[in-house]
Amino acid sequence: MSGAPSLAPVVTLAIFLAGAGAGAAAGAGLSDTEQQLAEVVDSRQSEAMALLQRAVEINSGTMNPAGVKQVGELFGDALANLAFEISWVDGADFDRAGHLVARHRGSGPHLLLIGHLDTVFEPDSQFQNFERVGAERAKGPGIIDMKGGNVIIVEALAALRAAGALADLQITVVMTGDEEFSGRPLSRSRRVLLEAADVADVALGFEDGDGNPQTAVIARRGYTDWRLTVSGTPAHSSLIFRDGVGDGAAFEVARILDGFRRELAGERYLTFNPGIGLVGTRLDYDDAHSSGDAFGKANVIAGHGVVTGDLRTLTMDQLASAKSRMEGIVARHLPGTSAEIEFTDGYPPLAPTDGNRRLLSLYDQASRDLGLGGVSAVDPGAAGAADISFTAGRVAMALDGLGLMGEGGHTEGETADLATLPSQTKRAAVLMYRLSVGPAP
Ligand SMILES: [Zn+2]
Repeated sequence: MSGAPSLAPVVTLAIFLAGAGAGAAAGAGLSDTEQQLAEVVDSRQSEAMALLQRAVEINSGTMNPAGVKQVGELFGDALANLAFEISWVDGADFDRAGHLVARHRGSGPHLLLIGHLDTVFEPDSQFQNFERVGAERAKGPGIIDMKGGNVIIVEALAALRAAGALADLQITVVMTGDEEFSGRPLSRSRRVLLEAADVADVALGFEDGDGNPQTAVIARRGYTDWRLTVSGTPAHSSLIFRDGVGDGAAFEVARILDGFRRELAGERYLTFNPGIGLVGTRLDYDDAHSSGDAFGKANVIAGHGVVTGDLRTLTMDQLASAKSRMEGIVARHLPGTSAEIEFTDGYPPLAPTDGNRRLLSLYDQASRDLGLGGVSAVDPGAAGAADISFTAGRVAMALDGLGLMGEGGHTEGETADLATLPSQTKRAAVLMYRLSVGPAP
């Protein structure tokens, strides 16, 4: 709302006229402005490729803060050239490089565009270079996950600016520096995303999704860690199951884990996995390193047990329901034992809401009108947690997987399909333009 108040009637009229144009275009190709967006994207391909190559050639493993900042400066400079206000959120208080934030104040809906600067390839990796492999492909660390997505953000915004359409959008770009290995606690390392989502109407994520340009992501499962702590009554093994002694910590751990499996396994989109467990007379479990030591004897009833695991769900309701059923199972103690379970929420689930479906249908229509075919939703069972998950419940609509496509993410075979650089950029630019002229989300 930074526009001069005296211009308000003019702005409203412009939105109305542009909206009518976009309406007529739906299903019948592109409006003149949309055609111009596509042409600008094509005309800037050598700049886009050069930016991609420069970004890939800077090592930005999550734990290489100097490299992450350098990639942040590269994209920050590119956005500053489009008249964005740039700031760097220092990551010292969550032990990471930090995040790039870029803002454009305009009228119209507020879009949050999400990228990340880091990769899984640290400076000691063999995989450091950008390499063309044939006319339409290139390999490189982070090329699709997700330096290519960052380039698509910059280039889509450049096209909107060249077409004079940027003034009708408020935009916040957040490129995090620690997506691959997030700083803890998440309440600190993800604060910038949560705050940006709170004031945004729409969130767009430019991860590479499942690598198929005919799909996008409207839902991602979230994860929660849990820790089960059990105690039993230590005594000579010959006394087990007797009154006053009971069943011991080992059988209580077994009962609880088997209860989880019997009562919760098989529910759609719900998974849970006990990853490490210790039982014995004396335990020393180290949470930070996910390892520990146990001591016990065959002729002594175990007095202690600890198990840690994860829990993945598609919606907050499914998470709450799973937690309460697990707590119910834990509470049915065997004789002579006690147990408790603690949950620590990690990434929240991004549920497949009606708003997200509506945003996908706008993207699908934009793609069809560009002659790029339809786009359907990725199976959420196959989509892991990502930064866009932090916008869940805070924006009206969210869509991810809009980045550069290819295959082999997180491996030394990470390869981009370069033909998707202009096509994904055009889709994003037309979608954002239609959001600027369409009815409020
Ligand atoms: Zn990524």
